[in-house]
Amino acid sequence: MASIKNELSNKYLQGVYRDLKKRYPEQKEFLEAVMEVFISLQPVVEARPEIQKNAIIERLVEPERTIMFRVPWMDDKGKVHVNRGYRVQFNSAIGPYKGGLRLHPSVNLSILKFLGFEQIFKNSLTTLPIGGGKGGSDFDPKGKSDNEIMRFCQSFMTELYRHIGPDTDVPAGDIGTGGREIGYMYGQYKRLRNEFTGVLTGKAIPAGGSLARTEATGFGLCYFMQEYMKDYKMSFKGKTVVISGSGNVAIYACQKATELGAKVVAVSDSNGYIYDPAGIDYRNLQLIKEQKRDRIKTYLNYDFGKKAQYFEGCKGIWTIKCDIALPCATQNEIDGESAEILVKNGCKAVGEGANMPSTPEAIAVYKANKVLFGPAKAANAGGVATSALEMCQNSARLSWTFEEVDKKLNDIMVTIYHNSANAAKKYGFEGDIQVGANIAGFEKVCDAMLWEGISY
Ligand code: NDP
Repeated sequence: MASIKNELSNKYLQGVYRDLKKRYPEQKEFLEAVMEVFISLQPVVEARPEIQKNAIIERLVEPERTIMFRVPWMDDKGKVHVNRGYRVQFNSAIGPYKGGLRLHPSVNLSILKFLGFEQIFKNSLTTLPIGGGKGGSDFDPKGKSDNEIMRFCQSFMTELYRHIGPDTDVPAGDIGTGGREIGYMYGQYKRLRNEFTGVLTGKAIPAGGSLARTEATGFGLCYFMQEYMKDYKMSFKGKTVVISGSGNVAIYACQKATELGAKVVAVSDSNGYIYDPAGIDYRNLQLIKEQKRDRIKTYLNYDFGKKAQYFEGCKGIWTIKCDIALPCATQNEIDGESAEILVKNGCKAVGEGANMPSTPEAIAVYKANKVLFGPAKAANAGGVATSALEMCQNSARLSWTFEEVDKKLNDIMVTIYHNSANAAKKYGFEGDIQVGANIAGFEKVCDAMLWEGISY
């Protein structure tokens, strides 16, 4: 593998980054994401002078529009709370803004700009016509009643509805925003607009949702890694897998990895992790997390073989011996030290289900040790790709079968892998899928921006 040097030496990109850092010194997650992309784009910027001439990079790092608003809501005791709501409409060069809504106390502009920036390239990689955006609120859904969630979601949409639309901006779920929250938001949008359109994705099936959307990110991650590993004479069959998280992505990654012949031995939540040497039963995971909305430690109550163990804390999960690691929880969950331990224990492949779960130090360790590395924006693009398939079905007033959607998802993930691998090869970094994904995602957006002119 010809890895790119992990430093920013191109003068043009250095200058844009310096200005950005001066303007937004506090936005560390955003700056980290920009740096990661800039390092990959150096060969492209050098080969294509029109990029600098048309200030493509300066335009790319500034969202087209950022909306911030207050979200007042009343709890069950009648107390009024105020949260902050956001929508970052980052880039619409290739289609309407598209990206999830995150509900989590850690949400701030830096995190949403990092996610929105990543989304531009990820959406471009899907091969479908969708631009990049992201939004959310610092509201914490944990411990809230159904009615409190509903009141919050309705208040959130009472402001957001005027900025979105099926051809403008189509939000979806993310951490803390699942089917229930999308339902309450969609209901409010419909009431306010008096129209039934595909303005949100991740809808319930009877209300225009797509079959296989729930499974898409986790399944897509496994399809992507399977295709990637095939080039290196590997597969999921007979492998031991560790998955962090136990939310939407983790549950379905666990199911697909198991169906592809792997044994998933660990999953986690933000309190701790389960190690089950006999193999995690994904049906129990679904029951605990999707139906009971319970903590992962209750997995022990369903483990009748009594082999599983629960450990407090999150980091320890990466000390478990595995062939394949699928981080599916949150950003920066694998640092350099955890990556070293994974490698020492024989891990051969890492596929990112979560967004930016590996720190730059961790990625450097994977590359130095020839670990196959499936970066988030390529490996977890199956969710947004299937959301775009939901948009297609909504506009055509059609519903495809589970098998049809799953087949399209598989084809898309296979294409994303090959487009990323080919882009890496074209610029002399064969085998570096991180660089290839950034370049393939960027070039399509860049060409559209050039074609659309400067003052669009
Ligand atoms: P969920 O809210 O369904 O699940 C998140 C899971 O991660 C939960 O099990 C949560 O535990 C756990 N978690 C959160 N923070 C930590 C932490 N610090 N350490 C360990 N575990 C933690 O979210 P999703 O599964 O939808 O999303 C997971 C990741 O995947 C995010 O990065 C998201 O942006 C990304 N993603 C999701 C897509 C989707 O379609 N859902 C699409 C593409 C990317 P707890 O319950 O304790 O909070």
